[in-house]
Amino acid sequence: MKTVNGHEVIQLFESWSPKSFALDGDPVGLHIGQLNRTISNVLVTLDVTIEVVQEAIKNNCQLILVHHPPIYRPLKNIRTDTPAGKMIELCIKHDIAVYAAHTNLDVAPGGVNDLLAEALQLQDITVLEQTYFEPMMKLAVFVPTTDASRLREELARAGAGQIGQYDSCSFSAIGTGRFQPLEGANPAIGQMNQLEEVDEEKVEVVFAASEKTRVLKAMFEHHPYEEVAFDLWNLESKTNQQGIGRIGSLTEPISLDAFAQKVKVQLDVPFVRVVGTGYAEIRKVAVLGGDGNKYIQKAKRAGADVLVTGDLYFHVAQDAQTIGLSVVDPGHHVESIMKAGVSNKMNRLCEQKKYNCTFIPSSISTEPFRHL
Ligand SMILES: [Zn+2]
Repeated sequence: MKTVNGHEVIQLFESWSPKSFALDGDPVGLHIGQLNRTISNVLVTLDVTIEVVQEAIKNNCQLILVHHPPIYRPLKNIRTDTPAGKMIELCIKHDIAVYAAHTNLDVAPGGVNDLLAEALQLQDITVLEQTYFEPMMKLAVFVPTTDASRLREELARAGAGQIGQYDSCSFSAIGTGRFQPLEGANPAIGQMNQLEEVDEEKVEVVFAASEKTRVLKAMFEHHPYEEVAFDLWNLESKTNQQGIGRIGSLTEPISLDAFAQKVKVQLDVPFVRVVGTGYAEIRKVAVLGGDGNKYIQKAKRAGADVLVTGDLYFHVAQDAQTIGLSVVDPGHHVESIMKAGVSNKMNRLCEQKKYNCTFIPSSISTEPFRHL
């Protein structure tokens, strides 16, 4: 097993749930402490409270991975006679770092929204609202035919030519390249001041914009010419499309009241608030962990019969009623499903990498409400 530092642990986490998936303005990332140290235990929690930090200390955790960013708005002070200041003081005194993964974890495949959709046993789960994509780029490079297959292989290894469930995609056309080496040149083929003609292949590949540096590096390293002729374009097409919320179907339609009961059982909550008539038929379900007040129109347009979301406002509930969308509100704390979900996923990834690091779900409930 390999001893790892905080940067390696976070890099592994971000290979699954990158910060770029977060919605604009969401303060994700490192909130407290630093990562340049050995990490053997990580506590996974929905919120960081003083009790949660004490749990981290007890479990010898050097890092807390939290869903709700503890410093959401800029702080005006860190007074240790306030709960927030005390929590920060405790982390710093015990050298515990805090890293927040919020909407990027909602969006990530297998993240909070997928965990909720799977817990509700939805079928054919898709994204409710697309919030992220990467633009594609295209490269056309001219290479002697004798070197073309090696270059194509290296471009594919660098991530070029991935389209859907296919890799190593490329297109080639054969032609003639011409050039005249001048004083100071060091040509792989040809003589000084003589016009040269070479049988060349034009190799075209597409790739996600984030792979540009890797792909160009591979092209320069594995091309025989000192001056590589190539064209590079930004494309309109998109790849790696991700989004927030999920929508899926029940295996068979049930009444709204039966569905509400199912939510209680499957998401392990003591009560739910329900908007809509009890006998309304539910087939298609939209789900968005946390506060999904903004998504009622979106859920309705996507064909959902019901939206499962927390923190439903009085007037939004009235709007939902007006547009004929049922809503089941199991509370915001339902997102605590991420504690086990993230721990399981990260422990699997650490095992694959042989990292000596364990993710532990917090056993402390951060639900502030009691229901009488
Ligand atoms: Zn939340």
